[in-house]
Amino acid sequence: MKKLLPTSTAGSLPKPSWLAEPETLWSEWKLPAEELPDGKQDALCLSLHEQQLAGVDIVSDGEQTRQHFVTTFIEHLSGVDFTKRETVRIRNRYDASVPTVVGPVSRPKPVFVNDAKFLRQQTKQPIKWALPGPMTMIDTLYDAHYKSRKDLAWEFAKILNQEARELEAAGVDIIQFDEPAFNVFFDDVNDWGIACLERAIEGLTCETAVHICYGYGIKANTDWKKTLGNEWRQYEAVLPKLQQSNIDIISLECHNSRVPVELLGLIRGKKVMVGAIDVATDSIETPEEVAATLRQALKYVDADKLYPCTNCGMAPLARHVATGKLKALAAGADIVRKELQALP
Ligand SMILES: [Zn+2]
Repeated sequence: MKKLLPTSTAGSLPKPSWLAEPETLWSEWKLPAEELPDGKQDALCLSLHEQQLAGVDIVSDGEQTRQHFVTTFIEHLSGVDFTKRETVRIRNRYDASVPTVVGPVSRPKPVFVNDAKFLRQQTKQPIKWALPGPMTMIDTLYDAHYKSRKDLAWEFAKILNQEARELEAAGVDIIQFDEPAFNVFFDDVNDWGIACLERAIEGLTCETAVHICYGYGIKANTDWKKTLGNEWRQYEAVLPKLQQSNIDIISLECHNSRVPVELLGLIRGKKVMVGAIDVATDSIETPEEVAATLRQALKYVDADKLYPCTNCGMAPLARHVATGKLKALAAGADIVRKELQALP
């Protein structure tokens, strides 16, 4: 029988201090170029080990081999000039200097496939691999070539599909697309964002997931959250169409956020990665707090479809905080799992 309530993380985990500056998002590599490949693999093993010690069921690379969840992927593509930069507004929230799309985009070689093969060699547990979603990718670029958000997203979807097929062949069990932009551009999501996502998963037989959230616990995001009012109903705009989509799993922020839990009812029938760990605070949840969030979610998600998870990535947290949160996640899931198994 399949384990009930299998735990996982949304994605990134802290890097060791010899690899990158701790408690800093998107920090530079500390190792010289010739030492970096081995260093990244060592960090991946450490991250996997910490997940296993904490009792996480579906493990990942902790995103140890990438600096940024979107940019690192785009750096491997052609058609984007990283020296030609323009300032754009990211997710309508903060300004950033971004690279320019100067010609047709393509993927000359695999991006994460070797890393995924390496992770596969280290464990027999199910593994999940995160890729940026097409809509989130276009939101971090200035487009001087296609001049259409939809057209560029479609091209990225085709490229992501190439990568995803090779990740599946490398033994990845769940491929996740990170789409925080789905929580901002609601009309575009419904008009073409979900169609692009479905293009990205075309032909895959492994499980697929989409992660939507209110972002890392960085200031631009916490300031934005303060403007959202007492009830966060943003998911309401996109969940009905996602429920109808071919995506298997939807990963959402829940714990400590003001998302009304009944919104989960809009995706009834889908598997749901329920965020039961707040990534915007250093305080470590108790297992009982995690269990309480999961019990709430169980009112709207069938037990065999509920995957306890973190709200978002934990890269900016101190390592001991992230480790504590992973343990709380596993322990909290265990409480609820026992309750479910005790039911007549
Ligand atoms: Zn997230």
